Parts: sequence; C-alpha cells; structure tokens
Amino acid sequence: AAIHEARPEIVAAAHAHSIYGKAWSAVGRLLDPITQDACAFYEDHVFFDDARVVVTEASEGADLARCLGSHKAAILRNHGLLTVGRTIEEAVWWFV
Ligand SMILES: [Zn+2]
Repeated sequence: AAIHEARPEIVAAAHAHSIYGKAWSAVGRLLDPITQDACAFYEDHVFFDDARVVVTEASEGADLARCLGSHKAAILRNHGLLTVGRTIEEAVWWFV
C-alpha cells in the first residue's frame, strides 16, 4: 500500500521469497552490472537494509517505499526481492 501511495504510476508489485533471491539478499549487496540481465537494474535498484524481516506495520511499508524511491527493484536484506511496474506484466517481468 505504501508503494502505491508513494508511486501512483505503479500498478503492481511482485514479491517472493525465492531461493536465489533470498540467498542473494543475505549477501548484502546490490547486483553488479556484469550480465545482460543484471544491467537492466544498473542504478535502478536499491538494497533495503532493515533488521525487520517481515513487514507487518504501515510504518515499515513506508520505510520500504521511501527506500525504493523511483527505482524498479529492491533487495530486502535476509528476506527476498521486490519489483514494481506500471503494469502487472512489467512487475513480473522484472521479477523473473
Ligand atoms: Zn516477504
């Protein structure tokens, strides 16, 4: 909800605790632009370094939305990945 509030152009957010997403989130780094796929996120993703692993309160969602800013993806420490899009397809595409 906080993402939609902060970014009215965003229609969908994709979020899951995928095996590789969770593993990467525990490394504590952004993606290096070393592959064609990773280049799509160059300077367009953030690392949400928050000790709260599960968002259960509105203030935590607001912190995530603030961290996401105008970017299309977030790596959530020890949690997983999140992508956003102006369509459902865009959010899912970036996630996959
Ligand atoms: Zn989650």
